[in-house]
Amino acid sequence: MKRGKEQSLLRFHPWIFSGAIAKICGKIDEGDIAEVVDSEGNFLAVGHYQIGSIAVRVLSFVPREINQEFYTERITIAYAMRRQIGLTDNEQTNAYRLVHGEGDGLPGLVIDIYDGVAVVQMHSVGMYQDRKYIETALIEVMGASLKAIYNKSEGTLPFKAGLNPTNSYVFGTAPEIKVARENGLLFYPDWEKGQKTGFFVDQRENRALIERYSKGRNVLNMFCYTGGFSFYAMRGGANMVHSVDSSERAIELTKSNVELNFPNDPRHQATAMDAFKFMQETTQKFDLIVLDPPAFAKHLNVLNNALKGYRRLNTKALEMIEPGGILFTFSCSQVVSKEVFRTMVFSSAAKACRNVRILHQLTQPADHPINIYHPEGEYLKGLVLYVE
Ligand code: SAH
Repeated sequence: MKRGKEQSLLRFHPWIFSGAIAKICGKIDEGDIAEVVDSEGNFLAVGHYQIGSIAVRVLSFVPREINQEFYTERITIAYAMRRQIGLTDNEQTNAYRLVHGEGDGLPGLVIDIYDGVAVVQMHSVGMYQDRKYIETALIEVMGASLKAIYNKSEGTLPFKAGLNPTNSYVFGTAPEIKVARENGLLFYPDWEKGQKTGFFVDQRENRALIERYSKGRNVLNMFCYTGGFSFYAMRGGANMVHSVDSSERAIELTKSNVELNFPNDPRHQATAMDAFKFMQETTQKFDLIVLDPPAFAKHLNVLNNALKGYRRLNTKALEMIEPGGILFTFSCSQVVSKEVFRTMVFSSAAKACRNVRILHQLTQPADHPINIYHPEGEYLKGLVLYVE
């Protein structure tokens, strides 16, 4: 490391930016294990080397081999934590995140569990190369409760690395029917064709909150994807629920999930349409709106444009909501901080000329833990607003 650039590592921040590196000794390829030392040659960390602005993602701040023992230990700790928070043996909920990257000391790795099927996504070459260790650790740690492992890294690895992974079952086989449960509600997690690992488990607690506010309300669920917020609102006694997503596939999934829980229920409508267009054109009245858009900003350099998009969306929702209405608004962009998000909602409220009170400040659930040394891990933020 360049002299003075080791400070963030001494505070256990798990990323090393390429600009902080003084020199690379020997030959190193993407995905290799790098040992990082300060300008005096003292050990700082060990991690996966990668090409890009983040050059090393730290796996350990003490010298150690990155081997089977390492992965088994980290996954054992991750599993024990989920057991402590009541997710590994829960009759109401069998979908949860077992490994959340840096939050679990495993940067570049995500593992979601759906009724015993582990869906694994690797975001770095190093993690992909270590996949056998990860699979063995999962089998060992989860024992008989593990039904299958599906590796879904086709779309998440750096394209240039040329690894050409294929999404496939690497342990067990596809279950005949894929149905998982969240707070007693059922859904089809579509890990084979769906986005991310097939379902957004990170909204579990926020969906439970919407249920409490839905009684007698006309609900609009924008960016519904698999319809999670919709079927919770229906259980909460909503008058009617309208789900909107630009993807036809998402609308199909929403319809089948609603049907699974509330067969032939006339309260639900779904439309495949662009969110902005729908909000411009609809003449329906709503008194509870959910805005859960995709990450408009994936990088800092597009933050301003992304904020414009969020502002337009929030202003429109605030303009159209009935007096006494509730808005659940979210951003899952890592680069949009809690403060920036709140300022954006503030300007939207002012622009819409509505009196707005904050009822709840929302974040990601405990199975998406934030490593205290890595504040960037706090990616999901939401506000529940009362609109006068
Ligand atoms: N609320 C969902 C997750 C939303 S993910 C849940 O609880 O699971 C974001 C969704 O936005 C995706 O399904 C994507 O298809 C949809 N989307 C992206 N751009 C859109 C647009 N311009 N209009 C409507 N939907 C859009």
